[in-house]
Amino acid sequence: MVDFLIIGGGIIGLLTAKELRKSGASVALVEKGCVGQQATWAAGGILSPMRPWHYSEAVNAISSSSQLVYPQLAKDLYEQTGIDSEWVLSGMLVLNDDDMTQALQWCEQQAVCHDILSVEQLNSQFPYLKEFSEPALLRADVATIRPHKLLAALRRYLLDEGLKFYNEEAQQLMLRGDDITGVQLGGEVLTASEYVICGGAWSASLIPEGVVKPDISPVKGQMVCFPPTDIPNACMVMDGDRYIIPRKDGRIVVGSTREHTGFDASTTRQAFESLRDFAQQLYPVLSGVEPDAHWAGLRPSSPDSIPYICRVEPYKNLSLNAGHYRNGIVTAPASAQLMTDIVLGRPSKINAEPYRLER
Ligand SMILES: Cc1cc2nc3c(=O)[nH]c(=O)nc-3n(C[C@H](O)[C@H](O)[C@H](O)COP(=O)(O)OP(=O)(O)OC[C@H]3O[C@@H](n4cnc5c(N)ncnc54)[C@H](O)[C@@H]3O)c2cc1C
Repeated sequence: MVDFLIIGGGIIGLLTAKELRKSGASVALVEKGCVGQQATWAAGGILSPMRPWHYSEAVNAISSSSQLVYPQLAKDLYEQTGIDSEWVLSGMLVLNDDDMTQALQWCEQQAVCHDILSVEQLNSQFPYLKEFSEPALLRADVATIRPHKLLAALRRYLLDEGLKFYNEEAQQLMLRGDDITGVQLGGEVLTASEYVICGGAWSASLIPEGVVKPDISPVKGQMVCFPPTDIPNACMVMDGDRYIIPRKDGRIVVGSTREHTGFDASTTRQAFESLRDFAQQLYPVLSGVEPDAHWAGLRPSSPDSIPYICRVEPYKNLSLNAGHYRNGIVTAPASAQLMTDIVLGRPSKINAEPYRLER
């Protein structure tokens, strides 16, 4: 029997396990597929909500707190595992934003680093992009990380820390009154003092009947990736609902779609062509080049994009950390920290109220 059993091995489950382990607790994690192969693997790794000025204070609080943690987290993981998560301060160029006034107001209020670049400045600073005809907003302090590398580093770190991984599906929770007494896997029952559901888009199905359920549903996102280009220190670009993320090795990741197709994570030719065409129009160097990778993932969407980070009442030993929708990478460290503070009964720097189930 361990102190904490985490269900779900995406970024949220892994970082929650890491925080709990840091407190000295014994931790095990159950993952039905391979660790980190769902939404987290599919993510672009932008370490900011795409347009933070459209998000609630609750989302921005855990996002800005996590942004401060990421450089050190990536550095520590590299030193401990030798795996580089590729935290890169690429900056973010925001084109054609309908809400430029709102964007500027937000940047000023939050005192975040920003600049409005004129057409001349854009064309001389970003010669690898299409010719500009309008000014754009540059947020120089936005970074990216490479999700599959971050996952590999976290998995390695947790294995070295002695965390036990079970490669099985948690089928159901076993109850006695307001106690969770175990988790039924295929052929065995795992027991722990406390259980934390971090099952991403699948989380609601694990909550027992008869209590308030989280409103979490899957929203598919498709991405494509181009082979390496030789543009040094390229900037991330956001244009409407689409974005381009340059990787350290020169690869160019392009996202993403937003589709309400249930738990279907298949890719489509239509999305492939639309993402490819978008990238080729923005990056002339890509014309005639075909993407060499195409994938999809299921974001765990929740009302107002605010995750649930809370105890599940009336159970004494059940908690939930899920529903991070489009911001699960950028908000993960602070979400894990808050979850750990809640289950250990510690005071938290973050106000837990907005993330409760009954809100
Ligand atoms: C295309 C795309 C682009 C994105 N880009 C960004 C971005 O740039 N920046 C950002 O911040 N966020 C981004 N996101 C959102 C981010 O990926 C998610 O919010 C985040 O990964 C959610 O993490 P998670 O651990 O909750 O879920 P997941 O990564 O889906 O992990 C949940 C895990 O739980 C496991 N599981 C579920 N049920 C069970 C069970 N019963 N038993 C055992 N295991 C179970 C699943 O197999 C899965 O591995 C993007 C998402 C997509 C799809």
